[in-house]
Amino acid sequence: MTQVERHAYDVVVVGAGGAGLRAAIEARERGMRTAVICKSLFGKAHTVMAEGGIAASMGNVNSHDNWQVHFRDTMRGGKFLNQWRMAELHAKEAPDRVWELETWGALFDRTADGRISQRNFGGHEYPRLAHVGDRTGLELIRTLQQKIVSLQQEDFAETGDYEAKLKVFQECTVTRVLKDDGKVAGVFGYVRESGRLFVIDAPAVVLATGGIGKSFKVTSNSWEYTGDGHALALLAGAPLINMEFIQFHPTGMVWPPSVKGILVTESVRGDGGVLRNSDGERFMFGYVPDVFKEKYAQSEEEADGWYTDPDNHRRPPELLPRDEVARAINSEVKAGRGTPHGGVYLDVSTRLPAEEIKRRLPSMHHQFKELADVDITAEAMEVGPTCHYMMGGVDVEPDTAAARGVPGLFAAGEVAGGMHGSNRLGGNSLSDLLVFGRRAGLFAAEYAAGLGERRPAAPEAQIDEAAAEALRPFGAAADGDEPAENPYTLHQELQQVMNDLVGIIRRGPEMEQALERLDALRARSRRAGVEGHRQFNPGWHLAIDLRNMLLVSECVARAALERTESRGGHTRDDHPGMDRGWRKVNLVCELAGEDPGGEGEQARVGLRQRPMDPIRADLLALFEREELLKYLTDEELDR
Ligand code: FAD
Repeated sequence: MTQVERHAYDVVVVGAGGAGLRAAIEARERGMRTAVICKSLFGKAHTVMAEGGIAASMGNVNSHDNWQVHFRDTMRGGKFLNQWRMAELHAKEAPDRVWELETWGALFDRTADGRISQRNFGGHEYPRLAHVGDRTGLELIRTLQQKIVSLQQEDFAETGDYEAKLKVFQECTVTRVLKDDGKVAGVFGYVRESGRLFVIDAPAVVLATGGIGKSFKVTSNSWEYTGDGHALALLAGAPLINMEFIQFHPTGMVWPPSVKGILVTESVRGDGGVLRNSDGERFMFGYVPDVFKEKYAQSEEEADGWYTDPDNHRRPPELLPRDEVARAINSEVKAGRGTPHGGVYLDVSTRLPAEEIKRRLPSMHHQFKELADVDITAEAMEVGPTCHYMMGGVDVEPDTAAARGVPGLFAAGEVAGGMHGSNRLGGNSLSDLLVFGRRAGLFAAEYAAGLGERRPAAPEAQIDEAAAEALRPFGAAADGDEPAENPYTLHQELQQVMNDLVGIIRRGPEMEQALERLDALRARSRRAGVEGHRQFNPGWHLAIDLRNMLLVSECVARAALERTESRGGHTRDDHPGMDRGWRKVNLVCELAGEDPGGEGEQARVGLRQRPMDPIRADLLALFEREELLKYLTDEELDR
């Protein structure tokens, strides 16, 4: 029997970003003893990096905005592949979640008459993003943390223990969801600093682990984004959907090499920044697809007029959804009209006074000055696409955030699939975290409470297996003629494969090649070995994370190969058009065969097509039939 620390809670939340913290607050407010686990320090989750804002149709800057318009924009952005019920709940509940944040102490930027200010963003018809300069995620996390501290103070007043009902386990990594007779029984993990192993027994687990960007070479994501929650769900028997849809943000830094991929917020374009190629041409006018033609300006004059008079001008094409802009930049660079470092120019210096740029975009000003020695108030930035956001994720029940097929498992935030369809609109993630984080916490609490005393208990053999799996890199060695493998080398090779063969523009034969390479990497990763001991050993941590990145990458490649059309974040060079027949299909990834964490490692990612639920008639009625014809089949429309 393995020696592990043992704790017991009602609800365990894995992840302390916006989704995790909002879920934990809800579960604790519903009376559950709640644990939050995070890989990094509390407060350092990826959410703090969010810059532009939270999308919510409060109508503070343009009173025409309402949930129906937000719903429409979200569905259009996702090219109608969104789980429509999630998009509906999200559009309806986002304003309440923003107002709630304000009552918890968030200090948003204001309009002249004192309301929460809202800014323009790509794909949003009206100014909709509540923001705090370009540091919105920081304020969101600060506020949720403050709320948690206030709940802990209440608990102290009542019990004499701050952590009686809500405890944060920071710098800990979960490596397995434990189960008893098919139901969730808790989680297994290790403490990053000491290497000690632990189990938290709990009947309800909320996954809120964020995205998968670290599987790609050029990414805006930080070290924590290794697809852990996606893999944990898969290994626990829950399906993943939409894994072929990855958002390549159009504007990441391209120079210097050490910072390649770091995000340049869309607010730069929302606040007037324009894209030009090396010929000085404002090229986006040539890339407005037919489905968006009616809504976007055809000339520079019309586009510029929109900033001051949006009711009488159409939007600038720089504010098309991200997938469109990313593809356009890619094409310009490929056509030889790129900048010296392989990007295009993004210029705000000729559009706004220097002081205004510093006020509206303080982080961008600082970022470029410090990292690239570029003063964005005086010169253009060089930018190019970067892997940014995972639309695919755990297949959840829309209302409850419950993972399908595994009682007691819930997922919210970037790790959950469905909400954003084939492409997420900027600002819709922070609102997603709050809306579905709250729902996950609520329904996890209800589920745990409903079990009464009949709680699942993880079998000891499962804990032993999880421990053996976690510790295997210390015993990994050469196998016959095959040498032991360095986890850093494997990671670099994986990132290169994903970038080169399953990146922004995809081709069938390249993805087949990627699958072969992933297969080989997975075999080699079993020999990934580390030296030294368990106390803070980053090589060991990476060796464990590799299992997750490889599994998730395989899902991405398999689903991308299967979908023979281009839609949202999935672009096929060999199938360039959007196909209405594919609109109503979800690709579902599941593990088939033996658990890959076990000794056999024979399991393979299985893929199946699943028809999507028809969109409810009253929601379809929010669109013109002519527009729907671009996305839905005649058969779907004539139901
Ligand atoms: P995260 O905030 O990433 O939190 C994940 C948590 O899970 C972390 O605490 C991590 O430590 C923990 N974790 C992961 N694996 C494990 C494990 N195995 N064990 C234990 N803990 C684990 N969206 C917007 O809507 N508006 C914006 O303006 C915006 N700007 C962005 C700017 C940047 C630079 C980036 C990268 C993203 C931006 N996004 C924005 C997207 C948005 O920030 C993310 O999608 C969102 O923050 C994800 O939140 P989350 O709660 O799902 O996960």
